[in-house]
Amino acid sequence: LTVFANIFQSINERTFLAIKPDGVQRHLIGEIIRRFEKKGFKLVGMKLMQASEDLLKEHYIALRDCPFYSHLVEYMRSGPIVAMVWQGLDVVKTAYAMIGETNPADSRPGTIQGDFCIEVSKNVIHGSDSIESARREISLWFHTDKLTCWADSTEHWIYE
Ligand code: UDP
Repeated sequence: LTVFANIFQSINERTFLAIKPDGVQRHLIGEIIRRFEKKGFKLVGMKLMQASEDLLKEHYIALRDCPFYSHLVEYMRSGPIVAMVWQGLDVVKTAYAMIGETNPADSRPGTIQGDFCIEVSKNVIHGSDSIESARREISLWFHTDKLTCWADSTEHWIYE
């Protein structure tokens, strides 16, 4: 029963991903969503929004003492963002790997940052870096009752 409970938990793991203002302006929304959708992950929440300064400061609170903090908040406020919640087995770790390294220069081809951007300060997408961050970020960006639980008819072709 414990093993079953763990598996069930993992298939329902969630992560927070956000296409940053440069990703939206550069018309990468479809391309980025396509990658997670084709991988087999399930989209359970999405909104195009202009984030407030307060929300962004809270989102990046752990970086408040970094020299680039205010520039980062300004960048994230410079246009609309696509905020999303994706679900699936090991989605936090796997989505983070699909995104690439924080610095696009260190990101391998095939990752989102390896394929679509050049500089760390214009790196097109955010992804939660741990299960705890994912929980915190999802509750910050979404009302949990606005997330949509739905049965994906391909699930039995994706999971054993
Ligand atoms: N960032 C930046 N300059 C730096 C390091 C980070 O502008 O030298 C920005 C970049 O947009 C990055 C974000 O700050 O995605 C958050 O940094 P973090 O170290 O948390 O990396 P992430 O978890 O986003 O990969």
